Amino acid sequence: MSRYGATKPTEYLTVDPRFPFPHTSEPTRCQVTPQIFDYARGDRSTGGEEVEQRLEQARKACTGCPVAAACLRWALVNHPAARLGVWAATTPRERTQLRKRISDRLGPDWINVLADQDQARREQAATARHNPLTVTQARIVRLDREVNGPMPRPLTPGEQQRNRELLLAGVRSPYPAKKFAEAS
Ligand code: SF4
Repeated sequence: MSRYGATKPTEYLTVDPRFPFPHTSEPTRCQVTPQIFDYARGDRSTGGEEVEQRLEQARKACTGCPVAAACLRWALVNHPAARLGVWAATTPRERTQLRKRISDRLGPDWINVLADQDQARREQAATARHNPLTVTQARIVRLDREVNGPMPRPLTPGEQQRNRELLLAGVRSPYPAKKFAEAS
């Protein structure tokens, strides 16, 4: 199995350029030992004990990886390039479930929503480098709670739009983290 970071980027013609693979100063475990991340389609029924052991090894390696969150984002967005194997401790099946959940929450064009969020974050960082993104981080944590919290019913398009607006508002808000916490 080849890994994005361990091979020529041009081998992956289907990656979304708005979501670059996270950079690391040291090679990640999946670049050093890509074979343990080879997990076919992620269906346990197709693998034996050896496959299960490799899966656990890969999960442990990802747990300590400094770019795990960005790696998961990349793998979710770039499904064609990351359709197989373990990425950020997730199997293909788990990533499919995550994509559906995010789509339910943000709408079918959720990838564009995330790209807009990234763009807004970059713009804010460029104009306010002296002020760390504490508010953004707090709002992203809140969004994460919303995304991963229980969803008793499918959201309406209006509710999805509200989530999108909250997402972008969280990135752009000038309020300090304390105020955000008080408002939450
Ligand atoms: S989280 Fe796992 S799959 Fe992603 S870069 Fe790190 S070691 Fe590789």
